[in-house]
Amino acid sequence: MCNFLSFLGSYLNIPQPVDDGDPQPVEEIDEPMPEPVSPEEPSTNMPYRPKYFTISELCQSNVAFTLGIKNKPSEKETEHMLELIEYILDPLREAWGAPIIVTSGFRCDELNAAVGGSKTSVHPYGWAVDIVPKRTNLDDFGKFIKKWVKDNDIAFDQIIFEKNAKGDRWVHIGLYNRQGKQRRKLFSMAA
Ligand SMILES: [Zn+2]
Repeated sequence: MCNFLSFLGSYLNIPQPVDDGDPQPVEEIDEPMPEPVSPEEPSTNMPYRPKYFTISELCQSNVAFTLGIKNKPSEKETEHMLELIEYILDPLREAWGAPIIVTSGFRCDELNAAVGGSKTSVHPYGWAVDIVPKRTNLDDFGKFIKKWVKDNDIAFDQIIFEKNAKGDRWVHIGLYNRQGKQRRKLFSMAA
């Protein structure tokens, strides 16, 4: 006998259901069981899982290797790199549809000084990356990035189209400045 339904039915003065001896799972309908959570995938505070880039790729540096600099990020700096990948690098790579090479990502202070990086650079914070397209010329890549950030309202601090004395060119993207601001400034340093 389904006691609760009988009680409810008589209380509300509605016809009683025929008791066929097969109780209906009313409680399960009212209170669905929560989805099981696997131990590998806790539902909260999951760090972003990069799709196209790796943390070690962002820490790789020939200069660091040559000079014996460890260039090891802290937990905070690793979190910053994951933000950079989540909000800029992976979506840009997805939109671009072709490989993008990271020429410089995280730089510990020692490495930043060794490569002549600015004192206000956010490379040591893990919030900046220098990239080049693998197979396309940099002008097309630069035009694409300018349009992509505008069309998709991408938040960033600085995008700089850089060039050194040797004529190497690359795109620098900074997610935040050192004060955590996103000023959305586009610069071109290429001739
Ligand atoms: Zn840079």
